[in-house]
Amino acid sequence: MDKIPSKDVTPDPVGHHTPPEGSSDSAMYSKRRHIYVREIKGFFQKLRRGANWALMLTFFLLPWINIGGRPAVWFDLPHREFHIFAATFYPQEFVLLSWLLIICAFGLFFITVFAGRVWCGYTCPQSVWTFLFIWIEHRIEGPRNRRMKLDKQSLNANKLKRKTAKHIAWLLIALATGMTFVGYFAPVRQLVPDLATLQASGWAFFWVGFFFVFTYLNAGWLREQVCIYMCPYARFQGVMFDRDTLIVSYDADRGEPRGKRKKKLSHDEVKEAGYGDCIDCDLCVQVCPTGIDIRDGLQYECITCAACIDACDSVMDKMGYPRGLIRYTTENSLEGRKTHIMRPRLIGYFIALAIMIGAFAWAVGDRMPLDFDAERERTQLYQMTSDGQISNVYSLTVRNLDKRDHTYRLSVSGLPGLSIDQQSISVAAGESRQSVVTVTADPEVADKPSHDILLTLEAKKDGSIHLERDTRFIGNLR
Ligand code: SF4
Ligand code: SF4
Repeated sequence: MDKIPSKDVTPDPVGHHTPPEGSSDSAMYSKRRHIYVREIKGFFQKLRRGANWALMLTFFLLPWINIGGRPAVWFDLPHREFHIFAATFYPQEFVLLSWLLIICAFGLFFITVFAGRVWCGYTCPQSVWTFLFIWIEHRIEGPRNRRMKLDKQSLNANKLKRKTAKHIAWLLIALATGMTFVGYFAPVRQLVPDLATLQASGWAFFWVGFFFVFTYLNAGWLREQVCIYMCPYARFQGVMFDRDTLIVSYDADRGEPRGKRKKKLSHDEVKEAGYGDCIDCDLCVQVCPTGIDIRDGLQYECITCAACIDACDSVMDKMGYPRGLIRYTTENSLEGRKTHIMRPRLIGYFIALAIMIGAFAWAVGDRMPLDFDAERERTQLYQMTSDGQISNVYSLTVRNLDKRDHTYRLSVSGLPGLSIDQQSISVAAGESRQSVVTVTADPEVADKPSHDILLTLEAKKDGSIHLERDTRFIGNLR
């Protein structure tokens, strides 16, 4: 399948590009210059902000929601229990987590083939937090031009006040992010007062501090550098693109030759005068969070946030030209060819995704809400009881993975006349319980050094919940 060409065009402070290779001022490593992102309103920015707020609210509020007296989502590492709403998962079920991660990866591949880097522009945490930090910067330091002016000023009372306020706001958000993240691993209602009173564990302080520092640095200082230089997805997503992938693109046929012109010229007059529709206002560059000029063609730095579309549409509206000079389109469409939505690669990813989601749903739905381990006491092979029977001791760990409390019937089979000293075990919903049980057999029957036996647990009020474990019974060694 044809790949669409992409360019690596490293941005300068306002989005123009470094000179071509070989020119005197080109360098292998260009110095990073600050990007002053201009705020823009428009349809896609509304969509993006809506998605960003929804994701942030979910992230910040979820750990505070309790179900049945415990956090709705709680990865309880010390007890090796992972509570996700009503379900509790155990390390033995990590295969489900692997499946989920594979599904997420295929979901990302599918979305990328279909719509490019929309994940980056609309939902990636790096973008979401960076946009939030830029939004705060705009509220405190003012719009782009005022921010550029402020940065050029030497330190004065106004600059000190605004910079201090901005960094305090950033630090508070970074702290809330760190505490919330750790709140998924330790109940946040306990964690926050513990942190405030210095009662929290050293590990809690370490991880809160870790995420606090990295949120502040990544969203406040590094920003687009993370997307351009650190994110592995940015590097390999290009190979998933084809000529039918939705991309943000500038319509060069319509826009060129670009140039400034009198606003009062009508669209037809502009065409007659030999102008393209681009008035070379640079607005699309000023709003770009990665500082690139989309008019230079598809670039891997583009996170498909569509800020340049909204910016250019607003310019087209003001000029009285049709919208869409920069738009979501495909390479085929730009070249006047038909766009194929249904194409082999997309269908392949879709089928793989559908099969995996179906299998995952079946595995979760069919999951036995009970787990138990049976381990034979290793310190002694067997014991002789006062009435001449042979007994073996087993340590059972029973995990009730159901939403209901259960009492389980315990039975043993595999040899005639086997008996067990404990016939039932009660375990509360989502809890686990350890029990020591003794299995006894007649030495005439257990006449070999080792016998295969079967321990069975069955919920008394729901016969469909039952589980068996093979184990060994050490018999008469004489
Ligand atoms: S915003 Fe539109 S008109 Fe202005 S420079 Fe960009 S492409 Fe040209
Ligand atoms: S070029 Fe446009 S879509 Fe791409 S990152 Fe910049 S503003 Fe967003």
